[in-house]
Amino acid sequence: MIDFNQLLNKRIRDVKPSGIRKFFDICEEYDDVISLGIGEPDFPTPEHIRQAGINAIASGHTKYTSNKGLTELRREIAAYYKRRFNVDYCGDTDVLITIGGSEALDLCFRVLLEDGDEVLVSEPSYVCYSPLTSISNGVYVPIVTEEKDRFRLTPEALKAAITPKSKLLVLTYPNNPTGGIMEREDLEAIAEVIKDTNIIVISDEIYGELTYGGKRHVSMAEIPGMKERTVIINGFSKAYSMTGWRLGYAIGPKELIAAITKMHQHAIMSANTISQYAAIEALRNGDVDINYMHKTYDARRRLVVSGFNLIGLHTFEPEGAFYCFPCIKSTGLDSETFCAQLLEKKRVAVVPGTAFGDCGEGYIRVSYCYSTDHLAEALKRIGDFVEELRSGK
Ligand code: PMP
Repeated sequence: MIDFNQLLNKRIRDVKPSGIRKFFDICEEYDDVISLGIGEPDFPTPEHIRQAGINAIASGHTKYTSNKGLTELRREIAAYYKRRFNVDYCGDTDVLITIGGSEALDLCFRVLLEDGDEVLVSEPSYVCYSPLTSISNGVYVPIVTEEKDRFRLTPEALKAAITPKSKLLVLTYPNNPTGGIMEREDLEAIAEVIKDTNIIVISDEIYGELTYGGKRHVSMAEIPGMKERTVIINGFSKAYSMTGWRLGYAIGPKELIAAITKMHQHAIMSANTISQYAAIEALRNGDVDINYMHKTYDARRRLVVSGFNLIGLHTFEPEGAFYCFPCIKSTGLDSETFCAQLLEKKRVAVVPGTAFGDCGEGYIRVSYCYSTDHLAEALKRIGDFVEELRSGK
């Protein structure tokens, strides 16, 4: 018998499975669960974008593209950054098309990290940065963000975490799981802290089209002096409801894009060709879809946040993405126990805040990518659950 535990790369063996997945494995044991767990738009990909994919197949666009991706698409992405954020990028040299933002993140970590390099990550945080750090032999350094600061990374907390070994700063705004955003002055304050260091910023802007209350997303690349040291991760999954098309990109300094392209070339060759044609259509004619979905999320956001606050679970009003992060400390339960009991007693699935770092203790992550009826039913069950807890039933 082969003992794979002995044979596996130790760093891979030690990677913990995602706390989100772990919870969904438990959910599968029940067949009547309603979920508020998935971070995936519930809309179908807009019809004209699907049609562009169908047309690509019908016209025989079924071969590899260049390693970097279709020139036409890369230029559209550069044009999007100009139009949306007034940042100048060259589509020919500064953009790599990847298999979702996920691949772009993976490449950046592998290309930039040396043994012992520190990766500063604002927490609570999306789940992949910690494993990507340890796989590359880096050291993961969480920086706690707090509700009193609207879950923004403060310059003071960042300053306190920086050491001579700090190599990367990962910023995910709008944030998964908290719904926090960073406004221009917040980013400027961060830029001021790192301007005299060698820290490279990985700015995960995958939720950049989803901000509320009339605030627009500010890209880190807009801040003077930051474009030169920032790689932006973005993609089509969230903005255009294209999760299954698996298409994203990295955009940044050309030397870095050349290095990650080298890795991509060997590991992937090129991203899905049909999806690339669909993405061109999304960028050219998809603003109306973004606006429609945004409006719908915003209405759901208000419903869910007021619903939780009425139940007595204090909830920060998210300013971006499509999650909220209710505080469950008043119930006296820890996050995992709250989620396990809610699932067992009321068949509602939400994700424990601890899946996003230790500082997520006392919180749950709720996605509002669901219909209003679905959300209302889930809120009713959660309300009953909390009431029963409080009355000691
Ligand atoms: N970054 C964040 C913050 C995310 O939430 C996700 C998906 N949940 C991704 C990156 C990856 O998205 P994709 O690979 O579908 O582009």
